[in-house]
Amino acid sequence: MTSPALSALSIDELTALRDAARRDHEALVRRGLSLDLTRGKPSARQLDLSEELLGLPRGHAAADGTDCRNYGGLQGLPELREIFSGPLQVPAAQLVAADNSSLSLMHDTVVHALLGTVPGATRRWADEPRIAFLCPVPGYDRHFALCERFGIELIPVPMDADGPDMDVVERLVAEDAQIKGIWCVPKYSNPSGVSYGDETVRRLAAMPTLAPDFRVFWDNAYAVHHLTDTPVEIADILTLCAENGSPDRALVFGSTSKITFAGSGVSFFGASPANVAWLIGHTGKRTIGPDKINHLRHVQFLRDEAGLAEHMRRHRELLRPKFDAVEAILSKELGGTGLATWSTPAGGYFVSLDVLDGCARDVVMRAGEAGIALTPAGATHPYGTDPRDSTIRIAPTYPEQEELEAAIAGLTVCVRLVATEKLLR
Ligand code: PLP
Repeated sequence: MTSPALSALSIDELTALRDAARRDHEALVRRGLSLDLTRGKPSARQLDLSEELLGLPRGHAAADGTDCRNYGGLQGLPELREIFSGPLQVPAAQLVAADNSSLSLMHDTVVHALLGTVPGATRRWADEPRIAFLCPVPGYDRHFALCERFGIELIPVPMDADGPDMDVVERLVAEDAQIKGIWCVPKYSNPSGVSYGDETVRRLAAMPTLAPDFRVFWDNAYAVHHLTDTPVEIADILTLCAENGSPDRALVFGSTSKITFAGSGVSFFGASPANVAWLIGHTGKRTIGPDKINHLRHVQFLRDEAGLAEHMRRHRELLRPKFDAVEAILSKELGGTGLATWSTPAGGYFVSLDVLDGCARDVVMRAGEAGIALTPAGATHPYGTDPRDSTIRIAPTYPEQEELEAAIAGLTVCVRLVATEKLLR
């Protein structure tokens, strides 16, 4: 992706640019920074927005009189499921509210599919000779790690502006019965910020699959995490699956990790009635019920869907200046150079920076030398291998504004250094 801007430069001009970048990098190293852009975590000020939770719940009775202090209620409090039904596009009756991590729900779902038999399957996944999942890339490293943990093969699929390349997805699932799933982060995707177009969602719901027990793992982690006045709406996967004769295909996941407290929130699972019964049947073997006190305190804190939207507006007030700063610094330092392209997300938690092919690892290393920690290059791809070695994930949410700005400015120095060195090699 060498741009005309760069290819137009003479060797002397390029050498001057490289020498300037070397001097800037040396100065950066001398500053002895210690900055971290690796963590897709809410900042302390974001967590403060939910401080009131620590004084809740008032009382312990759910709307139907259930004593939340006691065992039971495997599906979670109905009034909490009502609040998240709209945002997650799952009827409350088909939504499960669980404990603190959607990743653990995804993990358990995979384990139950391995050791139990999902609706529509002829046998347990553990009894299959081979299991593979499609992984749109760049994607979320923990999805990939989960599959690797259980020996599930990862097949990368390219991402377009509207989601995964559906021609590739349709071809693969039509010819390989061992492909049992696809990972999707359909809104403000981690890390590209891409939201799936309606046609992509429809094709995912309607495509013929050779595996009768194929599942779309619909990780809607950023369903309400908007950064603009015009929230993205995605198509309703569960309804589309039902309308296209594959009601059991989609498994919807979500959580309040980046809404309230990342470590003490509530996670959700939504699916067809058959899938919900299947999951609860298995869950009932590992717990007598979820943390309903936490459910109740979330209900009292968020109140309803409007309360949730208002709370997310406060997050946005804190996050927007950070994402704006990343955009402004990248544009100022790298815009028009042809050295990098980057995403300008309308929501979610990440910016994806694409540098010249073969440069991402070196940029991360050079940034490390200057005390700027970045997510390892390759983490956004299955097996930690980015074949083009070009994608770098930036997580702007956690650092304070000043630190973030220093880190991004330093990062651009490293991009200039590595790219000019490479071009002169
Ligand atoms: N899914 C995606 C796409 C994420 O980016 C993250 C966290 O970064 C998670 C899931 C983790 O969710 P939870 O905290 O609910 O386990």
